[in-house]
Amino acid sequence: MIFMRTIFLAIIASSAALASSALLFLPGHHPNPAPTHLVNTLKGEKLNAHGEYSVTPKVFKVEHSEASWKKMLGPARFEILRKAGTEEAFTGKLLNEHGYGVFVCAACGQPLFKSTTKFDSGTGWPSFWKALPGAVIERPDDSLGMERTEVICSRCGSHLGHVFDDGPNPTGLRYCMNSLALKFHPEKKPHSVKQAKR
Ligand code: FE
Repeated sequence: MIFMRTIFLAIIASSAALASSALLFLPGHHPNPAPTHLVNTLKGEKLNAHGEYSVTPKVFKVEHSEASWKKMLGPARFEILRKAGTEEAFTGKLLNEHGYGVFVCAACGQPLFKSTTKFDSGTGWPSFWKALPGAVIERPDDSLGMERTEVICSRCGSHLGHVFDDGPNPTGLRYCMNSLALKFHPEKKPHSVKQAKR
């Protein structure tokens, strides 16, 4: 009788272990918690029981049909901005843009990064250590078998690139952007405080 009970308990225990390990392979299951430095969340976007972000339609100020975006952006920008593509490293026009000004979203024109926060990361993609307040939304991205944090424009939802925590001071962040996802708007460099007083 005791032997039968032991067998029964062993079967129960191994079934539970099997069920919990099988859970890890369910589609959409997110074994790791979301990154802690997410700066914004999408309005109406909620993390469900499977660790997925469910996006409520019509959350962005600027929205167009897929056909309209394609027409507006052209194939190369469309692939990156609307299909979360990545341009080849060291090919972007803005990689070596060192002028004073602001980098805006190539899809909707929203200002995203100041030129003063751009740095040479050596990765081959335009890199910044800080985004303008409220300009971007960050969310977990586990595509391609990697745990990354995707960066999208908060105004139109277009994919811009990813953010990593190996950047320089003062934030320690590296916003790794696609050059084709951005446009550069040069601005007149302000006088220094000393010059302004004269
Ligand atoms: Fe945008």
